[in-house]
Amino acid sequence: MPRLAYVNGRYLPHADARVHVEDRGYQFADGVYEVVAIAEGRLADFEGHMVRLGRSLKELRIDWPVARPVLEMIIRELVRRNGVSTGLVYLQITRGVAPRDFKFPNPKVRPGLVLTTRKLTRFAAPAQVESGVGVITIPDIRWLRRDIKSVSLLPQVLGKQQAVEAGCYEAWMVEDDGMITEGCSSNAWIVNADGTLITRHADTHILNGVTRLSLLRLAESFGATTEVRPFTVAEAYQAREAFLSSASTFALPITRIDGKPVGDGKPGALTLRLRAAYLEALAGQPVAGGAP
Ligand code: PLP
Repeated sequence: MPRLAYVNGRYLPHADARVHVEDRGYQFADGVYEVVAIAEGRLADFEGHMVRLGRSLKELRIDWPVARPVLEMIIRELVRRNGVSTGLVYLQITRGVAPRDFKFPNPKVRPGLVLTTRKLTRFAAPAQVESGVGVITIPDIRWLRRDIKSVSLLPQVLGKQQAVEAGCYEAWMVEDDGMITEGCSSNAWIVNADGTLITRHADTHILNGVTRLSLLRLAESFGATTEVRPFTVAEAYQAREAFLSSASTFALPITRIDGKPVGDGKPGALTLRLRAAYLEALAGQPVAGGAP
């Protein structure tokens, strides 16, 4: 059975899946997306991703292409047909296909819906968890509605490439005031010398990570002191621990920032505890393939 993609109402062999050249996602990056992890056959933080998707659509005034329960059925069906028990679902909704013109199509056209899945053997390589990863800091050159999970990702493409060329996994973006916003595809966290867990508050300057919200709840549930506020590059250099979070990596330790070791240069205890707690909580999440 070949790997399938879902494109505007049809399950197609992945290799043959196509969208029209005048899809507004392709022409204008006029669309939104979500990435949901499937771990041990469960959809991780599914409700959170669906809620954020609805919010992104609303902010851009794009309609749901199908009702939310139908979309959830399509996701489960694609996961089932592709036999994914560990991996990712990618979901993209665009304003649809229309002759190229900046303003919204009038009358409205049907939004475009594309879904793909990817099988993985694991989330992050064991070496990345055991030794941690490196990040660099770069200027944040993005637009000011980063709370919308838009498919317009060029600054992040350039940032990630710069990180890879520096031998790092991620780039943390920094605003003119010296505050770190987030990573190119992840949220940024530190633990200071007092053991306080710090991550930036969610406003229009960052994407409010679904994993971020779950990790904050877990941290609070085991009594960790948390501060939800911006932090500077200087604070990050002084941190005892640092990590990043995203749907595809969960909490991943950072052991180098701009080439300088974080704390003792090893993954931090709170980071690893949060990662373990997140993985443990996955067992209670909804089953991925087939009926809900
Ligand atoms: N920040 C940005 C810019 C992202 O692109 C992502 C994920 O792609 C995140 C944060 C993490 O969000 P989530 O935990 O929902 O994957």
